[in-house]
Amino acid sequence: MKPFRYVRARTVEEATAAHGGRPDARYLGGGTNLVDLMKLGVEQPGTLVAVQDLPLDTVEELPDGSLRVGATVSNSDLAAHPLARGRYPVLSQALLAGASGQLRNMATTGGNLLQRTRCPYFQDTGKPCNKREPGSGCGARDGVHRDHAVLGHSPQCIATHPSDMAVALAALDAQVELHGSAGARTLPAADFHRLPGDRPERDTEIEPGELITGVLLPPTTAGLPSAYRKARDRASYAFALASVAVVLDVRDGVVRDVRIAFGGLAHRPWRALRAEQALVNGPATDDAFRRAVDAELADAAPLRDNAFKVPLARNVACDVLRRLAGAPTAS
Ligand code: SF4
Repeated sequence: MKPFRYVRARTVEEATAAHGGRPDARYLGGGTNLVDLMKLGVEQPGTLVAVQDLPLDTVEELPDGSLRVGATVSNSDLAAHPLARGRYPVLSQALLAGASGQLRNMATTGGNLLQRTRCPYFQDTGKPCNKREPGSGCGARDGVHRDHAVLGHSPQCIATHPSDMAVALAALDAQVELHGSAGARTLPAADFHRLPGDRPERDTEIEPGELITGVLLPPTTAGLPSAYRKARDRASYAFALASVAVVLDVRDGVVRDVRIAFGGLAHRPWRALRAEQALVNGPATDDAFRRAVDAELADAAPLRDNAFKVPLARNVACDVLRRLAGAPTAS
């Protein structure tokens, strides 16, 4: 392993100063993805800034009813938190659908958002990969790509984002809090990750040196019926072939509010705005759900071996919508 400088930061300012926006500096949270990539030689940081000691390990309710989740809150703690479970069940379910118990105990909220794709070509330094080494080609496009994207991919990259949590955050209209040399800012979780375009090496809209300090869950989606469903090759410890996070408010048989995000289909959580627009103020019927989801997936461009993802995503989404439409609505 290549030697690196290790800094254990105590404050956000200390952490961002130690990082300094250098291309070879990395923040280290639980290390459940970064350390693996270092062992594989995919990541070779010159500086690691450990952020576990930062005062970002709490879940707190804000005066406006939002829930603020610190960036170092573990995935296990967030999934089990009474306010997260009670108000945002889709988030708790998504977290519990990810990884394994041991990994969730280590993985952090901020780190979960920053995890890299599990595309096998990305993880193998002997293979071409535009994300790992821009300009080297995409091994997956004509290679093994059953798990890869069907929406929003580009000639340069067809990878999917692996996070379950991020899909729930996109559906909940969460915000990501960032802190950098220019100060603090927030980004909608649905816009935090990028499509690959011709810059697949960039996973997110984060600026060099910016640190994720937390996630804000809004009061607008609190208490509404919501659910996360994940289709995968085995019952646990597997990434999504297709997943869906749904928040649905139905009254008197009419859809008052709906938010849908897909996972496993694209380079980022895929917020299904077209389906949402088709459903809102319309009847909460099987027919309407199917037409709306089909409209959303009409632009899918499957690859040689992953066309099955389109009907899989449709069936999973329609089933979750149907079940939630029969759930009691919060007053
Ligand atoms: Fe690399 Fe993306 Fe192609 Fe995978 S899909 S080999 S991550 S460029």
